[in-house]
Amino acid sequence: MIKLTRRNVLAGLTALSAPPLLGMGRARARVVVIGGGFGGATAARYLRRLDSALRVTLIEPKSSYWACPLSNLVIGGLRDMAQQRCDYSAMQEAGVSVIQDLAADIDPIKKTVMTQNGSVIDYDYLIMSPGIDMRWGAVEGYDEAAAETMPHAWQAGRQTELLARQLRAMDDGGTVMISVPDGPYRCPPGPYERASVIAHYLKTQKPKSKLIILDAKESFSKQDLFQEGWAEHYRDIIEWRGRSDDGRVIGVNPDSGELRTDFETHLPDVANIIAPQKAGEIAARAGLTDASGWCPINGINFESRQQNDIYVIGDAAIANPMPKSAFSAALQGKLAAIQIVRAVRGLPPQSSVLTNTCYSYVTPNSAVSITGVYDNKTGQLSAVAGAGGTTPLGASADARKYESEQALTWFNNAAKEAFG
Ligand code: FAD
Repeated sequence: MIKLTRRNVLAGLTALSAPPLLGMGRARARVVVIGGGFGGATAARYLRRLDSALRVTLIEPKSSYWACPLSNLVIGGLRDMAQQRCDYSAMQEAGVSVIQDLAADIDPIKKTVMTQNGSVIDYDYLIMSPGIDMRWGAVEGYDEAAAETMPHAWQAGRQTELLARQLRAMDDGGTVMISVPDGPYRCPPGPYERASVIAHYLKTQKPKSKLIILDAKESFSKQDLFQEGWAEHYRDIIEWRGRSDDGRVIGVNPDSGELRTDFETHLPDVANIIAPQKAGEIAARAGLTDASGWCPINGINFESRQQNDIYVIGDAAIANPMPKSAFSAALQGKLAAIQIVRAVRGLPPQSSVLTNTCYSYVTPNSAVSITGVYDNKTGQLSAVAGAGGTTPLGASADARKYESEQALTWFNNAAKEAFG
């Protein structure tokens, strides 16, 4: 069994050291990073920290990054949207060149990235961290236009604000429905944290209202902990229906506002449709996805199993049982950075142990968490038996409060590491 010390849990990555500075590798290797989210921004900065001779370019179309972690608190009226904003102004100082553009195509043979504005950028190594895209149409009737009235709010920014506005506008006595897809999807506990903080809003502002979670799954992350919290705080507000209880939403009508499950039609006042997802569009165009829509990788270094010298990290990668989280994306970014520096220096990839912790708020002052520990020595990620776990059921209010403070500390540190 792997012994976890405070230090290696905090670092999140054990048994893997930064490569020695001496080596015979290619001088001034060019590394291009696509996507400036938690995965890509962390990877870009780490590459330069590990080897200041690398030429690192980050391609990201947006000037501001709106972080998803803690965005549920914005929806619940507990945090300002402005606190979710990160930008790329500190990248230059870290030695990372930023190109504000969309990567439109990749030629893995010529090793070039073509951007929407017509630039062609050469690379020796490419890190892809494009996050997710929605599978429009996977829920019948749910397309980009439908998301303007039935927000998913699963990519933070305008969608987050739209859902928050709809909740504020709803009359007391209204019904909110959250549709949750089958896995894999970004942030497994995220829908249940969202339900919790929306329920808190309803309880305090619109106490005659109800929240129904329609779930395409039979069980969910931290289920016992969430349900314990719901029984204590939101007994008459939250109802959860799993797949066998007709929980799967199969269609929507954005004009009437209706949701269809296998056997029923619902007409909620606010519908939050967390649609099924896939790797960010550019991953498929680069030939990095398989039939699942996600990108197979070698778990040791996160190099694509389908294209050489392209590393896929974050939500786009198939890294299960590691969840699709910002914590995982950032750690995978560091791991890919180390492995690329090793490759530049002619060193083989080295296996390691990775961790992930996801915090979820149940009330403004209480949170629960889950930690996983993963081994990658076979090239396939696997959970380390007996390591990790969730916070205990029946914990004191003080313990839950402490976790809520840790959640905030984690976010601030992760944002600082990624964006400076
Ligand atoms: P992203 O952060 O989405 O970044 C992808 C970037 O790529 C974007 O900036 C995008 O503009 C860019 N991009 C896309 N296509 C292109 C292209 N063609 N060219 C250039 N750039 C491109 N995780 C946690 O660890 N803890 C939490 O508490 C937590 N809470 C969450 C709550 C909610 C409501 C949600 C929805 C998610 C939450 N997550 C949480 C999950 C977390 O947000 C994601 O797992 C994380 O953002 C993944 O990072 P990424 O780098 O893979 O993708």
